[in-house]
Amino acid sequence: MAGFQEILGHEQIIEHFKNAITMDKVSHAYILNGPDLSGKRMLAEAFAMTLQCEKKGTEPCMECHSCKQAIGRNQPDIIYLQHEKPNTISVDDIRTQINNDIVVKPYSSPYKIYIIDEAEKMNVQAQNALLKTIEEPPKYAIILLLTTNAETFLPTILSRCIRLDLKVVSDEKIKAYLMQKYEIPDYKADVCVAFAQGNVGKAVKLAESDDFNEIKNAAIQLIKRLDDIELYEMTAAIKQIGEYKLQINDYFDFIMIWYRDVLLYKATADANKLIFKEEIYDIKKEAAKSSYSGIEEILKALEKAKVRLNANVNFDLVIELLLLTIKEN
Ligand SMILES: [Zn+2]
Repeated sequence: MAGFQEILGHEQIIEHFKNAITMDKVSHAYILNGPDLSGKRMLAEAFAMTLQCEKKGTEPCMECHSCKQAIGRNQPDIIYLQHEKPNTISVDDIRTQINNDIVVKPYSSPYKIYIIDEAEKMNVQAQNALLKTIEEPPKYAIILLLTTNAETFLPTILSRCIRLDLKVVSDEKIKAYLMQKYEIPDYKADVCVAFAQGNVGKAVKLAESDDFNEIKNAAIQLIKRLDDIELYEMTAAIKQIGEYKLQINDYFDFIMIWYRDVLLYKATADANKLIFKEEIYDIKKEAAKSSYSGIEEILKALEKAKVRLNANVNFDLVIELLLLTIKEN
């Protein structure tokens, strides 16, 4: 856990939280809405930590007993909802961990703060159970709902929470942050930023990844070879990609960046704007022989492949369709 000052971007949300603290107008329920890895959890934890801090400032002091417990994630009055079923937060989860627990006064802090991550997984019954608590919460209670999709909440939940939507963080900011904090070279930072698309957590994950170069090289090698791969060699190519099954979204993202570069070069003939600058020779070649619509088909096919894999369509089949589309275009 860290304080607000460690968080990159999200200035308006931080401002909102700090104002609420200074003006003593902290609400009983908040929704933090934004994509995976966008920073919801960091924001929620910084807020919770600040509220519980013994120094009572607008940043956690990081030194008092409460802050130390929070850093170790064992502050007894900052409670994380656990759910047993991976895809559902059930009415029982809400009843036992929140409704029955919230009536017990805080153990050692001014507030009792509940963090419900992946709150979109609450089914309707669970939401209705939670609603009862949100309607008449004890004075000391604060509920933080973190979600990738606030639209799944009942209107009655939405109307009783303060909703804060996370915005994308600018590329420049993320790049400077990565270069300074993770000491990665300019070129690598560009690639991370290009595929994080404003999502700091995603950029950091990539910057920290040891596999970064390996996946990137594998993906680019494949693209460059693809034209020469005969149909009967396809199975071998698919098997090779299968080695990156667990990082397949990253693998796809590298291919996507490569084709975006091709598209950009085709439109501008400017090598300075490319992410994969060192690939200029092959990007130029590809740009010369591909049409705009062909490249767009490939980019679309990559998106489609991601969606299909998320929906658990057979891996080999998805990859084969993708490779064929790339070959055809
Ligand atoms: Zn403190």
